[in-house]
Amino acid sequence: MKGILKGMLQVIKHLFRKPVTVQYPEEPIPWHTKRFRGRVILNLDTCIGCTLCSQICPNHADHMVYYDYDNGKNKRKIYPAVNIGVCTYCGLCQEVCPTGSIRLSNEFELAYYNKDLDYLPDRLSRSEKELMRHD
Ligand code: SF4
Ligand code: SF4
Repeated sequence: MKGILKGMLQVIKHLFRKPVTVQYPEEPIPWHTKRFRGRVILNLDTCIGCTLCSQICPNHADHMVYYDYDNGKNKRKIYPAVNIGVCTYCGLCQEVCPTGSIRLSNEFELAYYNKDLDYLPDRLSRSEKELMRHD
């Protein structure tokens, strides 16, 4: 009897709680932790082309490519490109970057009809929202 009452008490307690279910994707998910690891994003204006991010990448998702963009600091004009299809979101590139140019954003909705998952520097430097406006 005591056990039944205990169980009923739990049910009653939950009856008056605010629901935690989110009607995604109609409703946006309201949470993002500080340490969330989403799609890699690049700041073209601060990248110095040191190649550290591509050297540390465990599965060669991050690779350096020539990109004709002059930010005054990247003399060889080589910037990272990331193949999102093989990126494991480990965050190592972010950790080694001396200028904080590459980081893991909080974007995770990466469904595309276009199967080209190699994000070249220009694409890598823009958020998914920006890319959607241009596509
Ligand atoms: S998050 Fe990890 S796997 Fe992805 S590009 Fe950076 S180092 Fe490579
Ligand atoms: S993103 Fe950072 S680590 Fe990668 S090449 Fe640019 S400055 Fe170096």
